[in-house]
Amino acid sequence: MNSRKSLLTSTVLNLAALGALPWACFAQPDPNWLDHDRNRPQPPVVAPATPSTPEQAGKAPSDATVLFDGKDLSQWSSMDGSPTKWITREGYMECVKGSGYIRTRQNFGDCQLHVEWAAPVPAHGEGQGRGNSGVFLGLDRYEIQVLDSYESKTYADGSAGSIYGQYPPLANVCRPPGQWQTYDIVYTAPRFDADGKLLSPVHLTVFHNGVLIQNNVQLTGPTSWLERAPYQPHPEKQPISLQDHGNPVRFRNIWLRELGQSDKKEVAPRAAGLNLPTSLLDSYAGKYDSVEITREGSQLVALVGGVKFLMFAESPTKFFAKTTDVQIEFPAGVQGKPDRLIWSVGEGANEAKRTQ
Ligand code: MG
Repeated sequence: MNSRKSLLTSTVLNLAALGALPWACFAQPDPNWLDHDRNRPQPPVVAPATPSTPEQAGKAPSDATVLFDGKDLSQWSSMDGSPTKWITREGYMECVKGSGYIRTRQNFGDCQLHVEWAAPVPAHGEGQGRGNSGVFLGLDRYEIQVLDSYESKTYADGSAGSIYGQYPPLANVCRPPGQWQTYDIVYTAPRFDADGKLLSPVHLTVFHNGVLIQNNVQLTGPTSWLERAPYQPHPEKQPISLQDHGNPVRFRNIWLRELGQSDKKEVAPRAAGLNLPTSLLDSYAGKYDSVEITREGSQLVALVGGVKFLMFAESPTKFFAKTTDVQIEFPAGVQGKPDRLIWSVGEGANEAKRTQ
């Protein structure tokens, strides 16, 4: 294992030792896979979402959990679990003043969340009183503000797309009231240890109508009015809720994709490699088209694409690298110097003829 790999490995192991940390915040190549590893699982195939039009909501990606398809509120309840008094109309739901927040019946942790909303028309009220609702992650703790900020002013950290009281949006991308708008949210739930100590805070990324307005911001705790509230430990998976702030804000086409690491690999020690006689290794040394083989001590070194790889023997004729998925095979049963080799990086098999 070279020093780069061992450094990466120890960094990851040290982080892992801290507890179940959200992978997304520490995204880095998993050192348990080789570069270009041919055995690494393929990413799942997902049919993309269909974009919405002003008249019609689009369709969720094929792997999404559809939370509201414009027809019924079966996935939602009031906060105490009883049926909500929010109403559904043609293709959307609408907040009913005084009926309270609604929440999903299911719990979610790290996720990608798509929400479409429209502020009431004609516009009514000013500032925080104009088309106010909110998308909350972590039950009712972390609010992405929904507000009619189209040609309407309020304090910046309470405007549309703000992380309420903490982060103003990077831009005001509001459409006029009555028009459908999109939020695409990436949420990383906070992590707490067994004693309730915060291990990592909430991270949020938000696109408003396709424009980035929150770039992986770290929350200081729950969003709230007048004060900065500290984190209180809670389960990683919680419902998502929508705010009743007294305004008949509409919602449609709500879907969610749970996030996780699909190709996580348990650490398995790699084969050490066989010890082969130096005379055999010397017989392999030479130039083969674009690949050069030399011997360093008791090992072969392959120069592939201008990069040197220390090779380990799987058999007397097959060699592999431990950093990148480079494999080299010499023809079996050859006395003396072979006239060719087969090499591959991650896929396929390329023949290279000896030139020297
Ligand atoms: Mg709000």
